[in-house]
Amino acid sequence: MVDREVTPLQHHDLAKRRALSSPFMVVGRINGRHEAAGVATPADALDRMLRWLECDDDASAVWYLREDWPDPITIIGRLAPGSCGETRRAAHLFSMEPGAVHCGSLEARCGTELFMPEIEWLNVGTGMPCERCLALSNTPAYRLEAESA
Ligand SMILES: [Zn+2]
Repeated sequence: MVDREVTPLQHHDLAKRRALSSPFMVVGRINGRHEAAGVATPADALDRMLRWLECDDDASAVWYLREDWPDPITIIGRLAPGSCGETRRAAHLFSMEPGAVHCGSLEARCGTELFMPEIEWLNVGTGMPCERCLALSNTPAYRLEAESA
């Protein structure tokens, strides 16, 4: 007989693993209900918010780096292909403080504001970096790739 009982310790590990693979939280009010979900990337956060909006025109949602995340992280994004000329497609750095709430747009270190639906998220080392963002950079960039279990 196979013992499928989950011990408290395993359960704790599982919760911790899940938290690590979902550093971002999306919370909102949809059809009067409070919803919250952990997601792996900012793109997933946007997907989730758009899905909620499809269910309820009056839905409100925000996303943020989990407040229990140990350190601020830096994520990298640029305007998606086709939304502007190639010369404007520098990869900007976005600082995310744990618990700091974001809605539909993000402001890069250099002050450039990008709207979530037009951002293409990049991993460290890809794209041509925005020199102004780099000059203001002091924390190592965070890898967006989800750690595979
Ligand atoms: Zn920039």
